[in-house]
Amino acid sequence: MACPWIHCNICLRLPASKCRYFISNCGHVACERCVEKQLIAPKCSICKRDTKVEEINKNLREDLRKYFVHIHDFAVKSFNEVKSVIEFQSKNTRRLMKYKMEKIKELQNTTIKHADDSVTIAKLQQYVFSFGTCINNI
Ligand SMILES: [Zn+2]
Ligand SMILES: [Zn+2]
Repeated sequence: MACPWIHCNICLRLPASKCRYFISNCGHVACERCVEKQLIAPKCSICKRDTKVEEINKNLREDLRKYFVHIHDFAVKSFNEVKSVIEFQSKNTRRLMKYKMEKIKELQNTTIKHADDSVTIAKLQQYVFSFGTCINNI
């Protein structure tokens, strides 16, 4: 978690070897010295809220650790998640569209067949009508 922007929000001290840093539930960061002087907990001297602190290290809670990841890695991970969701939804959308296009084609073919049937029926009716007229004239 080497973050060049980390500093103690109280004394503005920059990280040095063997100096531990902490984050409070109010979101402020403090160095070990300021924590020992109780400048961040149990009450934060910056925002005056009641606080608890957690050391910033690899065991930091996931919801707080996310703020200390390398932004490039975070961006790549986020992009890949978005990309996988888009791919999944697109694949499903294409499958559904293909099904609907096939249904439309089926309906179009059925409509054409019905139109052909209507022409045939009209011709048959015409024939029957003509035949009936012939019979009546005999
Ligand atoms: Zn400090
Ligand atoms: Zn605070």
